[in-house]
Amino acid sequence: MTTPLLLPFALGDASMVDLLGGKGANLAEMTRLGLPVPPGFTITTEACRRFLDTEELPPELPDLVSAAVIQLETQSGRTFGSTTNPLLVSVRSGGRFSMPGMMETVLNVGLTDATLPGLAARGGWRFAWDCYRRLVQMYGHTVLGVEAGRFDELISDARTRLGAVDDAHLPATALEDLVRQFRRVLAEDTGQDLPQEPRVQLDAAIGAVFRSWNGDRAKTYRAHEGIPDHLGTAVNVVEMVFGNTGHRSGSGVCFTRNPSTGSAAAYGDYLPDAQGEDVVNGSRETMPLDELGTREPELHRQLLAHLTTLERHYRDLCDVEFTVEDGRLWLLQTRVGKRSPAAAFRIAADLADEGLITVDEALWRVDGHQLESLLHPRFADLDGQRPLATGLPASPGAAVGVVAFDAAAAVAARARGQAPVLVRMETSPDDLAGMIASEAVVTARGGLTSHAAVVARGLGRTCVTSVGGLVIESAAFRATTADGQVIVAGEVVSVDGTTGRVYRGALDVRPSPVARALEDGADPEASPLVLAVTGLLRHADARRTLRVRANAETEGDARLARRLGAEGIGLCRTEHMLLGARRELVERVVLDDRRDDALAEIEAVALDEFTRILRAMDGLPVVVRLLDPPLHEFLPDLVGLAIDAAHREDRHEHDETQDAKLAAVRRWHETNPMLGLRGVRLLTVVPELVVAHVRALARAQAALRAEGLDPRPEVMVPLVATESELELAARHIEAGWREGDPTTTIPVGTMIELPRAALIADSLARTAEFFSFGTNDLTQTTWGVSRDDAEGSFLAAYRREGILTTDPFTTLDERGVGQLVRTAVQLGRSSRPTLGLGACGEHAGDPASIHFFAGLGLDYVSCSPPRVPVARLEAGRAALHHDDKAGADTR
Ligand code: ADP
Ligand code: MG
Ligand code: MG
Repeated sequence: MTTPLLLPFALGDASMVDLLGGKGANLAEMTRLGLPVPPGFTITTEACRRFLDTEELPPELPDLVSAAVIQLETQSGRTFGSTTNPLLVSVRSGGRFSMPGMMETVLNVGLTDATLPGLAARGGWRFAWDCYRRLVQMYGHTVLGVEAGRFDELISDARTRLGAVDDAHLPATALEDLVRQFRRVLAEDTGQDLPQEPRVQLDAAIGAVFRSWNGDRAKTYRAHEGIPDHLGTAVNVVEMVFGNTGHRSGSGVCFTRNPSTGSAAAYGDYLPDAQGEDVVNGSRETMPLDELGTREPELHRQLLAHLTTLERHYRDLCDVEFTVEDGRLWLLQTRVGKRSPAAAFRIAADLADEGLITVDEALWRVDGHQLESLLHPRFADLDGQRPLATGLPASPGAAVGVVAFDAAAAVAARARGQAPVLVRMETSPDDLAGMIASEAVVTARGGLTSHAAVVARGLGRTCVTSVGGLVIESAAFRATTADGQVIVAGEVVSVDGTTGRVYRGALDVRPSPVARALEDGADPEASPLVLAVTGLLRHADARRTLRVRANAETEGDARLARRLGAEGIGLCRTEHMLLGARRELVERVVLDDRRDDALAEIEAVALDEFTRILRAMDGLPVVVRLLDPPLHEFLPDLVGLAIDAAHREDRHEHDETQDAKLAAVRRWHETNPMLGLRGVRLLTVVPELVVAHVRALARAQAALRAEGLDPRPEVMVPLVATESELELAARHIEAGWREGDPTTTIPVGTMIELPRAALIADSLARTAEFFSFGTNDLTQTTWGVSRDDAEGSFLAAYRREGILTTDPFTTLDERGVGQLVRTAVQLGRSSRPTLGLGACGEHAGDPASIHFFAGLGLDYVSCSPPRVPVARLEAGRAALHHDDKAGADTR
């Protein structure tokens, strides 16, 4: 059978969206359901594709349209071109995917000088002239290409001249006059007039809608939304019904439920004596649906009954366009409606409770991005607030605090009990302690994957980056914005990481009730939204096989992660324990300055921290990663030391200790520290440093066991590239462990974060009992891109040029990096079938990447504590059967 070019509503259904477009398929579906849809037919996307190929309407089409029009005449009891009872139609575009405002519609087609009196008999002269001026306007714009502003100007002139508050107050004579003026515009701009033959109008309108598919606006929109260009649009020809025939008529749009809160009551706007477009274009004040209930109770009752029919049928929130003509209700459009994140959760949970969908489908209908947006605090009232500065929304949240221009000032402010906002040109690993101390981080440079952005997201701190034109003079304790406003140190600012805006002063922060509920546990009195989120999360937990752990190195983060549902710690970065003042301990070990004391102190610090974390995670695994900083982060600044030395030389002074220090730092200095002495390499060169940590971990375990607790530490070696590195590390670990607790052993695993490690994973798995994919470093090393530097230099240009469409540091690059992960999983399991498998880092909290990890059969992902609920939800979604996903995919 050949693909049809035209189909009456009665012959189509909702499954035929590819051929009929969304609007046409749903009009057909409503017709089949017996809902009051005006008669009509759809010219299919196939006809459009042929039109776009040949630039002519398919030759068979005119006869098909003639037959369909005759059928419309029979159904409506009116005749196209009749002077007494004319049939008018709307010509409406509608493709497979909705492209709001991009495509064209022409209303009142079939109206001519000859048919006008017949229309006036239906609703009066004012009404008839109003319809006529709309036709000339839409036809002129859509078919003849007259600029829309030409008509708008004339209308607003008429309003001013007559003192009319809106178009509804223009009298018949004014509208008649507008028709004359509009037709003069057509003549002036195009040399044409509105065709006085209805069928000519119809064919021209159909062609214009097809052509609008390739308009600039439509093309740009499709490129942006990823809608393929070859699909084409359908055209729906629908008998006109009129909402503008008087006070018993009107038009409205409504939703079967509230699309903003999700509450289960119909929601919408109605405008008496108006055509549909007046409702959305905001030219007149609309009334809420409830008021329609008071004015027209019977109509309201009918409408609600139809909404219920639609919702039960589509098993989802629907939106509807409707028109009332002289007390009679018509439905003109429906589709599954868009909704806010909060509404998405509430509606999914409610529909499952009502038995309309399964709980699996409900889970499939919400996602991690929606959940994440519900977890952040917001500013209560931003109306009328002018931002002080604007940048990129790098890490969401709402934070208020005092400005600090360097990490030390932020740490000091925190120590005084203040909440600092760290404002920097950009951040580096040196700023970590300051970032931890801060509520929010603002940087002048860097994008969404800059150091500031990545670290802030990991820490759950609010962050705005790339504040253009911000100049920071930390020595003068002030910064200046692009438009010359001055911010001084200690001043209070409010940072909105969700929008990328910074405001002066303290705005009211509204904490997220969902986040609070997830942290504090179930409250039977909780709001419907909270109950919906917790309910669906519980279901996700029941479904998922992928476990969710957290990245945490403080007791506080560990406790928070556990409250949010983490099933252990997948990454505890020991170097975090040695930041700030303790950093000097590492320096002393490396530079051999009272080395043994420093080592003893490091061990004491580690014992204390490990004990707290293991206690917080009692009964759950805690994977401790051995020291992995680039070494330079722990050594004094080479440039600073060299400058001091030069000054000394000028003054002919001598300081042997300082000179020795400079020499030592020079010896350790690296040009490319990220590819330098870190991870297992550091462990090989300075094993004592690492052994101190292992011994502390063993002692922490022994102490907690003595208390009757159940600590479950594991040790992980970073940056491994060869089997022998790992074997050597394992020997050091074993020795250190034996010194700390001779009665037990410790599971040893490795990070897979170098391509070589992935490729020789079978031999690594002979020593490693588990793998954890460090996909941040694996992405850097696979792409050869330094994420700390690349943003400023070329990543932005790459995005502009379309070379990169998704950011490989945010969503795992499945084809490249993912292939290495897949290989490592296969090789690793081939040599050790019981090998444990996890992933840690940014990707472990990213919805798309979580689905990828789940598909590979990893045991767990480990993400920052605030993202734990997101990962739980997505892991649950990833476990759903194909059927449940398909069932909910009608959106
Ligand atoms: P959009 O996709 O931009 O909503 P539509 O094709 O739905 O465009 O039409 C634009 C407006 O015209 C809507 O308000 C719609 O309800 C109204 N409309 C379309 N067809 C008819 C008709 N046959 N009778 C009355 N109003 C109509
Ligand atoms: Mg519409
Ligand atoms: Mg790493």
